[in-house]
Amino acid sequence: CGIIGYCGPKPAVDVILEGLKRLEYRGYDSAGLCVGHQGRLQLVKKTGKIADLRREVPEVLPGQWGIGHTRWATHGEVNDLNAHPHLDAASRIAVVHNGIIENHSALKEKLIGQGVSFRSETDSEVIVHLIASYYDGDLERAVKQALSLLRGTYGVLVMHTDQPDLIVGARNGSPLVLGIGEDEVFLASDVTAIMGHTKQVVYLEDGEVAVITPEGYRTTDLRDNVITKQIDVVSWEL
Ligand code: GLU
Repeated sequence: CGIIGYCGPKPAVDVILEGLKRLEYRGYDSAGLCVGHQGRLQLVKKTGKIADLRREVPEVLPGQWGIGHTRWATHGEVNDLNAHPHLDAASRIAVVHNGIIENHSALKEKLIGQGVSFRSETDSEVIVHLIASYYDGDLERAVKQALSLLRGTYGVLVMHTDQPDLIVGARNGSPLVLGIGEDEVFLASDVTAIMGHTKQVVYLEDGEVAVITPEGYRTTDLRDNVITKQIDVVSWEL
């Protein structure tokens, strides 16, 4: 339902929890986050409110790069395991997803045939395993290959332990906005999630992919054509 991603100098867990709190008004049944630190992904997911998720977060959760999600379940019951983010088998890739993957059954069957085991009942989990199956050192390329197989709607954020301080985001039928701050860049499904940090935003369109790092961002389409986007300034206050 709602997504947020952060790359910058601040503790990512704080930025993500604050962003998820601001996305609460859209409704959700569970929430989760993943923060990268020293080559590891740290995952926390919980059914219920953001306050319930916050209680599960360790007192110290270091890392300045991460993604978060509020889930409104469409496929798979409401439980901690089905909450996002979802990880690949090696726990090196994390994905959050808004929307519905219509061809998830066929993709899942194929992946299971290749020996992949699934941890959740969601349609979303196929995305992370597809990315893992294509990954050969270039996350952006693997994400584009995986997304080109999907039918349905998505706003997705992806991170990989091999590529610290980098998030790949993409959309098709689900909103995604990029926020540009000082030495920090955000991606979110809704501008309210990031407005407390920056007013400079780039609204992504369907079929567009953004790669963000603390230093900046790049936007392309699924075929790698560079797309130059206009930067908007949000003129209203929260
Ligand atoms: N279809 C996904 C699920 O059920 C994502 C739902 C959402 O947009 O929150 O997990």
